[in-house]
Amino acid sequence: MATNIYIYSLFYLFIYFTSTNGFIPQPIIADGGQSSDSITHTEITQLGFIRTLCRYLYDTRIVPNKNNTVNKNPQDYFAKQHTIDDCYKLAHPEYSDAQVTLYTGPMKFALDLVMTHNALVDFDPKTKKLSSAHCDSEAFPNCSRRIIQLKKTVVDDVLNNKTDLTNAHTSLGQLLHTLQDFYSHSNWVELNKTDVNILIGQNETIGTVAAPDQATCTNNGCVTKTQDCSIWQRITLRKCPLVYYDCTNNILPEIINKQLLTSGYLLDQMTDSNGIISKPLNLSKCSHGSVSDESTSIPAIGGINKDSTNLIFSPHANLHFIAVEYAINATERFLNDLRKQFGDEKFGHLFLIDPTDIAAKAVEDEVAKGKRFRFFTPLVTASLNKSTGFLMDLKNTLTKTINSITSIFNNIFPSGKANIPTFDLSDLGINIEDMSNSDAAPYLFASKNTGRKKRLIDARRQQKINK
Ligand SMILES: [Zn+2]
Repeated sequence: MATNIYIYSLFYLFIYFTSTNGFIPQPIIADGGQSSDSITHTEITQLGFIRTLCRYLYDTRIVPNKNNTVNKNPQDYFAKQHTIDDCYKLAHPEYSDAQVTLYTGPMKFALDLVMTHNALVDFDPKTKKLSSAHCDSEAFPNCSRRIIQLKKTVVDDVLNNKTDLTNAHTSLGQLLHTLQDFYSHSNWVELNKTDVNILIGQNETIGTVAAPDQATCTNNGCVTKTQDCSIWQRITLRKCPLVYYDCTNNILPEIINKQLLTSGYLLDQMTDSNGIISKPLNLSKCSHGSVSDESTSIPAIGGINKDSTNLIFSPHANLHFIAVEYAINATERFLNDLRKQFGDEKFGHLFLIDPTDIAAKAVEDEVAKGKRFRFFTPLVTASLNKSTGFLMDLKNTLTKTINSITSIFNNIFPSGKANIPTFDLSDLGINIEDMSNSDAAPYLFASKNTGRKKRLIDARRQQKINK
């Protein structure tokens, strides 16, 4: 009986995820208790940040400090898996664990704000269908322009020594979302590129784009799949059976041969001037593709997104990890470029890497009063070494993240502990009982409030009955 209650509660706690707008915004635990192995926007951001931070601490604290006796062999340092605390401890061997926690607090909350505003791009009504925010619908110049404009806020606020960096952190999170989506929504990976696109966020022209009237995809190469749905899928996806596509080599050879950029279309997306942009009919453009993308059945059928490892949401699921690798590299590169542009002192200021005692204590006090991370997960590790063990890094990260989430459900951690993220955006005006939000990203809305989730499920059922 106890086991049945456990399984019953898991049914309510475990969310099955649907995404239309990019790498999934937060870690998920899939239907039936199987863990998903997709990497999320917030994890990509944290992984890129760890690499940049650890390099910064190595250059500015570890190497110059003659009294620091840690192994300074760069090969060892850069090959090893580090959490933020690991690098901070190596940089400050004189600190106790309590001091490391104290002095990294402001930086972790700054990063958490960046990660939050990255995730919000998929929920905010102003951006969730905006093509340029997700590099969809071949809106590449708009996509790069958006990054350039948001970057300007970051640069201006830092160079003007603003004390309130909320806008800078918000803009940085938003632009990183777009930068990361480029790799899962465009055909950059399918063009067999060997490095990130260094023009994004620099120039409005980031490559030669397929012409507006040029076909980019073909029905050939996509296999239609049909699958019965679970009860949870029936409630969240409102489609049964599930029809989706497994696509390989569905991008036209002339697009690949001429190295033309394209990205997937959807229905009823928004242009920068608030116009509507939908997948054109009779033109064989590529779809984004997902069980929740209505354009996926319009020729060319299928799609090209690499947002997840699940074919139900991503017709190019087999390329997910390559897209993730590019997205992490691009994130790290962007942050390293900011450091170069600002200089070390101002870069340190942007991320509150060396807070004053007063600032650190203020954050500590807020934590004592219950302040929590929304997405930042202390256990996530990254190595700076790009070439070896990359997939292993990702899998390690994922296992730790999933374990920490599972531990919330299993109450291994005492409630109120600051180091378990809430995955909750409800304090930022995201209505979790709004069905359109749960369609965009069914979500660990209520890890501490199962009542709300139960209401969401009940509302879904009611809606189903009323249809
Ligand atoms: Zn997106």
